[in-house]
Amino acid sequence: MTASKQKSSSGSGLSLNTRIMIGLFAGIAAGLLLRLMPGNWIDVFLIDGLFQIVGRLFINALQMLVVPLVVVSLICGASALGDPARLGRLGGKTLLLYLLTTGVAVTIAITAGVLVQPGAGADLSSAAEYTGAAAPSLVEVLTNLVPKNPVAAMASGNMIPIIVFSLLIGVALTMSGEPGKRTRAFFEDFNDVIMKLVSIVMYVAPYGVFALITRLAATTGGEIFGNLAVYILLVLGMLLLHLLVTYPLVLTLFTGLNPLTFLKKMRAAWLFAFSTASSNATIPVTLDTVENRLGAHNNVASFTVPLGATINMDGTAIMQGIATAFIAQAYGVDLSISQYLTVVLMVIMASIGAAGVPGVGIILLATVLIQVGLPQEGIALIIGVDRILDMARTAVNITGDAMVTTVVAKSEGELDEAVYNDPEAGVIRDHDKLEAAPSTV
Ligand code: ASP
Repeated sequence: MTASKQKSSSGSGLSLNTRIMIGLFAGIAAGLLLRLMPGNWIDVFLIDGLFQIVGRLFINALQMLVVPLVVVSLICGASALGDPARLGRLGGKTLLLYLLTTGVAVTIAITAGVLVQPGAGADLSSAAEYTGAAAPSLVEVLTNLVPKNPVAAMASGNMIPIIVFSLLIGVALTMSGEPGKRTRAFFEDFNDVIMKLVSIVMYVAPYGVFALITRLAATTGGEIFGNLAVYILLVLGMLLLHLLVTYPLVLTLFTGLNPLTFLKKMRAAWLFAFSTASSNATIPVTLDTVENRLGAHNNVASFTVPLGATINMDGTAIMQGIATAFIAQAYGVDLSISQYLTVVLMVIMASIGAAGVPGVGIILLATVLIQVGLPQEGIALIIGVDRILDMARTAVNITGDAMVTTVVAKSEGELDEAVYNDPEAGVIRDHDKLEAAPSTV
């Protein structure tokens, strides 16, 4: 839970997010200014020189993170399941519900992205060297699930086999007794180191964003910024839909409990998730909410909540689904049905692979884009507005964890319905931790 440390890595007093926003707006201004200035040297030395180099370095740095981040965090996530015996009924049910809700989330997102077309008309096809790299067909993706050679898969950034391999290593770790424990401790430490590397790259993100956006604004029309506004509204709208329709429906369907009570009791956890943008950092509040406010027994919640914070990211999946559609449209790429199915699969995997810390979802978007051959420069378009979406999607992510915990607890006979139905249950007044927690962030 190094998450909250990550958010203000800036030494200048401005938060990272503010610096990225400044990079974005300064880039728009600089790009528009360059358009007004005459002279060939601007194109040669600035637009296709300096800004292109800095922008590419930043994209390279993002790509550099993807394979180590996915491998290490998935090994940790899979081995967090603990004793394989616990994987039995409880694990099966929990995983199924987590996958089901994430599948619904990404389907909603891609449908909305295809219907609303947030990227249509932006015409960036000339702004990046889109190579049109042939994306593998769904059959190929499925048959390549298990890598012949994991090192080759990592070297070529082939995400699905990498994910399968990492999950298998994680499972094997839990079954290997003492050596497994030692290796797991190593991977957990290594995970902290990789997260540090993420924060180093995020520290220079404002400059990368500035360079990429300057080049974009200097070479393309201004329509893209209208498209961005539609993208933000669409992501927020679909997050709300998932929160207020999908979760209440699943909860009522499986438990018959009143979903309004559930939503009301989630408020403190939302506040915390929103202000930290980290599911991991919110684990204590989510646990407190599901146990003391919603009545789930600790022996279910202590398993489902940390697991959910690691692998269940419905809000992240919604952002990634819409972002993929947005980037494809902005670059004028028509994705086929089988490519969209690949996107669904990849988004589910990428949201599993995303650690519950700020900003990781947007970095892992690269894994989805790689798989369908979309230009990763597209990430630069949306990273500048990502923090606000990160905050909102984290609130959705932890709501999914709490909802699934409630369903599993009820099905195991481990839910105290008297607590669930008591509006005052677990309310902590004044000086207590829940009231104080958000303000300490
Ligand atoms: N911040 C998200 C979370 O912690 C992950 C992400 O989408 O970046 O749940």
